[in-house]
Amino acid sequence: MDYEVIIVGAGPAGLFTALTLADLGIDRLLLLEQGKDLEQRRRRSPKDMLCGWGGAGAYSDGKLTLSPEVGGNLGEFLDQDSLNHLLTKADEIYVAHGAPGHVFGEASPALENLADRARLSDLELVPARIRHIGTENCRKVLGRLRASMAGRIETCTGCPVKRLLAEDGQIKGIKLADGQVITSRFVVAAPGRSGASWMKTEAKALKLKTRANPVDIGIRVELPGTVLKEITDKIYESKLIYYSKTFDDKVRTFCMNPYGEVVTEKSDGIITVNGHSYAEKKSENTNFAILVSSAFTEPFDDPIAYGLYIAKLANLLGGGAIVQRLGDLLAGRRSTKARIDRCLTRPTLPQATPGDLSYVFPYRCLLSIIEMLQALDKVAPGVYSRHTLLYGVEVKLYSNRIDLSPEMETQVRNLFTIGDGAGITRGLLQASASGILAGRAIAKRIKP
Ligand SMILES: Cc1cc2nc3c(=O)[nH]c(=O)nc-3n(C[C@H](O)[C@H](O)[C@H](O)COP(=O)(O)OP(=O)(O)OC[C@H]3O[C@@H](n4cnc5c(N)ncnc54)[C@H](O)[C@@H]3O)c2cc1C
Repeated sequence: MDYEVIIVGAGPAGLFTALTLADLGIDRLLLLEQGKDLEQRRRRSPKDMLCGWGGAGAYSDGKLTLSPEVGGNLGEFLDQDSLNHLLTKADEIYVAHGAPGHVFGEASPALENLADRARLSDLELVPARIRHIGTENCRKVLGRLRASMAGRIETCTGCPVKRLLAEDGQIKGIKLADGQVITSRFVVAAPGRSGASWMKTEAKALKLKTRANPVDIGIRVELPGTVLKEITDKIYESKLIYYSKTFDDKVRTFCMNPYGEVVTEKSDGIITVNGHSYAEKKSENTNFAILVSSAFTEPFDDPIAYGLYIAKLANLLGGGAIVQRLGDLLAGRRSTKARIDRCLTRPTLPQATPGDLSYVFPYRCLLSIIEMLQALDKVAPGVYSRHTLLYGVEVKLYSNRIDLSPEMETQVRNLFTIGDGAGITRGLLQASASGILAGRAIAKRIKP
């Protein structure tokens, strides 16, 4: 074998596998990443945004959600104590590499009061403890991780893996896009959301059992920071769940960025919106997503295709992301440049095309979003203002979920798959924790 372990993807999941293996004394490790090395990545390049050393995490907002209920499904593989230990271990590694000490959202009377007020508005507040690294600091933390891995893990960037090679139900190595075959005893596939379609193809070729995750479709809301100040000052991010009045669909707030910016993302040629915030540099606005979950049964069971279809429609109509004032949406008219110029909320994504989101979203989805905004307005008056900006489309395409053992091993022996690309995590900390889990399991087999 050329290597003991090959890791595909240098996002948080892959990096934490590599680090864990190296720390446990395993050598002959190869980390393959299709994107650029950390220093070469450029924030403004849509491709670099999601791919490269550091993964989607490099330009993320760096909110480490310490609560086990949020950020993925690892709780289905581990008991509560083991999961808490694993998340704490991952968090300690981030802190050791420079993540700040402060944790938001600790239990407090203010939090209880907020939960009570939410309940009166038909909203459920999911308490979540959060450590905020901040977009500008994520690169620094990753830089320190890179330094502590140097010399212990062979790394190749600009190296897309084309095939996972297996024989007789056991992994044998990988084939690179240039045709080169590299053999190894173990392979860990950690391709993230940007590698989800590649992972789906490989899973099919290897006859791995998979199932679809629901798709979350919605908008990014932007409003003056003062509207949510009481919440964001106390708990940084509020995770609120609502079941829509008309359709009883699950609607939730996601990824709240106090005084942050709305950004675009490009994946598979489709432009969608997202948000982030810096630790120091502040805008005057807060943004967050409202997502509506859609699951399908039969004959259609391809939620990813459904989500992409809606995102493509927004791109078709707006040439990219669309922005609309809530007042225009409710009045049944499009936003125009003049109307956005008059808006009291100044957009942090001025490139978004003023348009009409009612041409994009299905009635069911749009009504659920409007009902959620009405409910939120009771907790934070001002959310349902005419001047609230709505950006579309935000879509969370969770990869197909691959059947895994509690150690993250697939049905192909010695092939592990972890992180967002395996469809089991949705955030930095659980993705990192899944890497530690796989790393420990592999190390135990190499050095029992
Ligand atoms: C703008 C933005 C903000 C976010 N903010 C937060 C946040 O605040 N908190 C939070 O918890 N989460 C956040 N997230 C989500 C978080 O970044 C992801 O959950 C996390 O990065 C997943 O880690 P991963 O290692 O599984 O995948 P990724 O980070 O996506 O890494 C996968 C890597 O694999 C590489 N790859 C894919 N296929 C191949 C292949 N065939 N060959 C070689 N390499 C391949 C990719 O190029 C990529 O670099 C954010 C995401 C975005 C995009």
